[in-house]
Amino acid sequence: MNNYTHFQKYLMDEILAIRSAGLYKEERIIASPQSAKIRLQNGQEVLNFCANNYLGLADHPELIAAAEKAMKERGYGMSSVRFICGTQDLHKELEKTIADFFGTEDTILYASCFDANGGVFEPLLTEEDAIISDTLNHASIIDGVRLCKAVRYRYANAHMEDLETQLQTAQAQRFRLIVTDGVFSMDGNVAPLDQIYGLAQKYNAIVMVDESHSAGVVGKTGKGTTEQFNLRGKIEILTGTLGKAFGGAIGGYTTGKKEIIELLRQRSRPYLFSNSLPPSVVGAGIYTLRMLEKSNELQDKLHAHATYFVNKMLEAGFDIKPTQSAICAVMLYDAQLSQTMASRMLDEGIYVTGFSYPVVPKGQARIRVQLSAKHEKADLDQCIEAFTKIGKELSVIK
Ligand SMILES: *Cc1c(COP(=O)(O)O)cnc(C)c1O
Repeated sequence: MNNYTHFQKYLMDEILAIRSAGLYKEERIIASPQSAKIRLQNGQEVLNFCANNYLGLADHPELIAAAEKAMKERGYGMSSVRFICGTQDLHKELEKTIADFFGTEDTILYASCFDANGGVFEPLLTEEDAIISDTLNHASIIDGVRLCKAVRYRYANAHMEDLETQLQTAQAQRFRLIVTDGVFSMDGNVAPLDQIYGLAQKYNAIVMVDESHSAGVVGKTGKGTTEQFNLRGKIEILTGTLGKAFGGAIGGYTTGKKEIIELLRQRSRPYLFSNSLPPSVVGAGIYTLRMLEKSNELQDKLHAHATYFVNKMLEAGFDIKPTQSAICAVMLYDAQLSQTMASRMLDEGIYVTGFSYPVVPKGQARIRVQLSAKHEKADLDQCIEAFTKIGKELSVIK
């Protein structure tokens, strides 16, 4: 027995336990750019319905050109954090562009939204304060809350009576922060921000919304939940990612009240102790947001797709969660069935993912379909056809 043997045995047992529980995550290898049609390493060409590539920008030639231009003019990497020597004119320009997009006062960039959420609570709140969090909030919010000493309250997903109860109890604390995802990634529902905002006024709380799945998608012109609920400029903290609708590369942000952003620049650990975003990503980010300000074509196309897809799937007899975004949950309830169905769909050239416990509650297994402006109508028809064929085969529909 050497020093590693004992630990190695433990790791192998853990991995085996993951496998036996049917929870082992295999990675499918893609040998093409991310897009609506992708080529897998085995040569199979499939239609992709499981990327967060909502506006279809991941392989957009103009974004690639903007990234190339920024890289040529400002280099490959920064080799520094922002406050030492890692802030270029481009970083300030992107921060301003994001603030203009959301109608906020200022923005702070991070390497990811995971970092933005990881670094937002601890600098702002102490053990005297309260965080009131939706139970279905993203893992990065949960982790961020854990890093903060504030008293924690949780309310059932989008359940306003429960939120009100928690807010009443939380009157014991000095400040209260309500935090919610804008769009919940497993059901595609939008947080009822109008009611959340109302309760925040009544119970003297501030509000934070994670717009990762809603930015570019929700609201008349894709400005997210604050646009949808007519609350532009009213929500104190928004976080989000450049890794989904906005080109899908990498990068996160917190945007909102200027004093909040200013304090985060002084104290937020993922900002202070992690590298600056590279010029290519920043340049393409600026380009993307400006492009989206000019035209609503992509978002309109995405919405038409979502409506069409949901209606056709309902007609075919599938059980679909009511969606208000580009996420469409095809409910199967049974974990094994969701895996079988996803794998049969791939044989038909449709790449979708089955989700089961612990990602969704027990007995709530499903296939999540994510639509993209990069899809064409014929792609949707092909997907619906495959669902119908396999659905009949597996007796999910008649
Ligand atoms: C995807 C996602 C994140 C993480 O974003 P990254 O930029 O990929 O780290 C955070 N919050 C929510 C709600 C998300 O959906």
